[in-house]
Amino acid sequence: PALVAGIRRDRLYALRQREVAAYAAARPKTEAALKAGSQPFLDGVPMHWMKDWPMPFPMLVDQAKGARLTDLDGHEIDDFCLGDTGSMFGHSPAPVARAIRKQARHGLTYMLPTETALRAAALLTETFGDFRWQIATTATDANRFALRVARAVTGKPKVLVFNGCYHGTLDDTMVELRDGQTAARAGLVGQVADLTKTATVVEFNDLAGVETALQSGDIAAILTEPVMTNSCMVLPEAGFHEGLRQLSRKYGALLIIDETHTISSGYGGYSRVHSLNPDIFVVGKCVAGGLPTAVWGLRPDVAERFAAYNATRAPGHSGMGTTLSANPLQFACLAATLSEVMTPKAYRHMEKGAERLSKGLRRSIDRHGAPWHVVRVGARVEFICAPGPLRNGAEAATAHQPQVESVLHTSLLNRGCLIAPFHNMMLVSPATTPRQIDRLIAAFDAILDELF
Ligand code: PMP
Repeated sequence: PALVAGIRRDRLYALRQREVAAYAAARPKTEAALKAGSQPFLDGVPMHWMKDWPMPFPMLVDQAKGARLTDLDGHEIDDFCLGDTGSMFGHSPAPVARAIRKQARHGLTYMLPTETALRAAALLTETFGDFRWQIATTATDANRFALRVARAVTGKPKVLVFNGCYHGTLDDTMVELRDGQTAARAGLVGQVADLTKTATVVEFNDLAGVETALQSGDIAAILTEPVMTNSCMVLPEAGFHEGLRQLSRKYGALLIIDETHTISSGYGGYSRVHSLNPDIFVVGKCVAGGLPTAVWGLRPDVAERFAAYNATRAPGHSGMGTTLSANPLQFACLAATLSEVMTPKAYRHMEKGAERLSKGLRRSIDRHGAPWHVVRVGARVEFICAPGPLRNGAEAATAHQPQVESVLHTSLLNRGCLIAPFHNMMLVSPATTPRQIDRLIAAFDAILDELF
């Protein structure tokens, strides 16, 4: 077809060539530094997905503060990617930077709690509700441990996840629907275990499919985000979460809610804003202001069941842990973030800015007659280069337009705006100003002028 996402291919390719050349021409220092120093890394990058950004070579960051990045070539960039949520509250929030400085003088890891740990626990409960908490370092680990507990207390083997989900690199969730059947994802490196024995996939918003899966009797837990945020953004339909809650109870499965991205929804996350009532609550990324930390919590009744299980368990390795988790630096950053950064006031600012952004993008899309749409979940905004709303992972997969998105991302960056790679996600932090938002809208509008 001559059009992709409503754009003439020749226009798209011409813009891509111009923008890729402009990106490289503006970064001689970065290019030279990479050439001289990236070779010791496997494939030239410290983390393989740094190659998946759409630019011809990665940007080297010189420094970041608030919602601003400066690259090695001195370009000042408005950051709407914010570490893909890790820095959703801005880069180096002052209370977190202070907490790091203070703790740095008193030891970084000792496998023992501190008084601040007790304060962090009280703050977690105040913010997210009555759970029995554990500290991990990544949301991947938090989900992995939550799932272990669910299997332990239910005695059932499988996790039910939704097609197109992402919960980190947790093996059990690396499945998808293929011809209506659960199958391992195609690209998994070195996969040997049969993931279909431990996971079942259903489409999001399909309560009948969820019930059919639960009727098998072998589902320990439903693991879901409140909104699917990793395949475009797919909102839950009215009654979907109530249905999940009822069905999980009816069939004896636990409901694990992964708030790692939907923490953008408002104070306490989507669960608090929309009264979801999970059995196990998980959140990571920005929960300690950008210092690697995740938390998972069990409802008191699940904690009791787990205690009973533990009383019968043979002594020895539990399969849960990691040495550097629950360290004093994490407690200090958690307490600082929960008490001074992740506040209702901060969320009001973020929400207001995100509404300004989504309105501006929508206006531009409408003005250009683009067959696209915009979704917002609190401080999180995404434009999708296809009509919406999307109802599930299968629809989200076909809505993705990687060719178009990569040109948009590079073009935005050349105009001083960084958005999250792999999808078209933008976050508004407490430090993001209306001027930065208006610049992003203007840049987006100028690019659409070129494409339509
Ligand atoms: N849960 C969700 C919903 C996520 O989006 C991600 C990462 N994008 C994770 C868990 C895993 O987080 P991490 O990479 O920090 O382990």
